[in-house]
Amino acid sequence: MSDDYDLVIRSRRAVLPYGERPAAIGVRDGRIAAIEDVDAALPAAAEVDLGDIALLPGLVDTHVHINEPGRTEWEGFATATRAAAAGGVTTLVDMPLNSLPPTTTVDALRVKQEAARGNVLVDVGFWGGAIPGNVPDLAPLHEAGVFGFKCFTSDSGVPEFPPLSPAEQHEAFSAIAALDGLVIVHAEDPQALTEPAAGDYGSFLASRPPSAERSAIEQVIRLVEQTGVRAHILHLSAADALEPLAKAQTRGLRISAETCPHYLTLAAEDVPDSTSTAYKCCPPIRDTGNREELWRGLADGVISCVVTDHSPCTPDLKEGDFATAWGGVSSLQLGLSAVWTAARARGHSLSSVIGWMAEAPAALAGLNHRKGRIALGHDADLVAFAADEPHVVDPAALHHRNPVTPYAGRALVGLVQATWLRGEVIDDTPRGTLLHR
Ligand SMILES: [Zn+2]
Repeated sequence: MSDDYDLVIRSRRAVLPYGERPAAIGVRDGRIAAIEDVDAALPAAAEVDLGDIALLPGLVDTHVHINEPGRTEWEGFATATRAAAAGGVTTLVDMPLNSLPPTTTVDALRVKQEAARGNVLVDVGFWGGAIPGNVPDLAPLHEAGVFGFKCFTSDSGVPEFPPLSPAEQHEAFSAIAALDGLVIVHAEDPQALTEPAAGDYGSFLASRPPSAERSAIEQVIRLVEQTGVRAHILHLSAADALEPLAKAQTRGLRISAETCPHYLTLAAEDVPDSTSTAYKCCPPIRDTGNREELWRGLADGVISCVVTDHSPCTPDLKEGDFATAWGGVSSLQLGLSAVWTAARARGHSLSSVIGWMAEAPAALAGLNHRKGRIALGHDADLVAFAADEPHVVDPAALHHRNPVTPYAGRALVGLVQATWLRGEVIDDTPRGTLLHR
């Protein structure tokens, strides 16, 4: 007699789409085939009882820079996806820049996919890039399965991925609208950015003011209105931009926004000194008042997603001061714990955190029919999360290639104990698949 299910997982704290409750989840052929009362009889080949450990849907991180090939010494598919699995992320979407070649043509996408194939512990999809001159490449990339197109309004930090001028933005957005595609925008107005006057954090912060984000976002809103494209604002840091975003959303324009764990959990006041460049990222981490406004933006729904912008480099590039160091904070493994620690302190539920870190990013990428929720028919991508477990961040325990982190020594709550991809515990076997739009 065969069992009905390959695996049953029971938890007193299953985070389901309509909230937290005790439940038993039955898995068959890698998919969620039953959601029943916690003590329901479900004949299964294997069974796990988590007790009071929470059961979450796997997180979906739509903002990850895996720099392989080309800058594999910064980060690679094996190390990044190992960190992801350890942090409860079962799906990630890779950014089109910092690897070489950048993902701005179908040939470059094929190169990326070849580097990833057979090397990933979680499921991986790809964003394409919109740069000056590649409008003819956008439709082929769309057909080849990228989830949308990233562009910059200001310098990207790497020469092979130049920003789009306002006229080029109009042209690219129109082309993407014609595909009914999605454009995702690094929005800082180059006219409002300056060179830092010195190497300290205050000078760096002053060189990238909130007005730079607000002005670029207002320009994106105008282009959404003119072209009808669906747009998403990446890594929102400046709370000043919440007002125009909220107004645009109220008017029915198709524009969404994300923020990142570091903007929600760190603050400019925390940066110890001018050598603490683990805190450097663009746009910058601002003051605590701004941070609390971002939490309000999340609670109000103006910001829908919290994703990491995991953007590592080699430690030597982080040396020096805030004027010279590479920008980027890498938190694939820590994002859930960091955000949950801060969310809980502000009275938010684990369900809300999962909404921001799994359900909304899955919807952004159009993966919500199979990812981001514990729902019948969805992939059995699941996480056992000890939500009350205190721990202190030890960089030596991080799996990404260069574990430089501003979270070193931080006391957090909530630890991932196990992660399943399509019903299989993630171990060292690369069972991740490559995803297409
Ligand atoms: Zn990024």
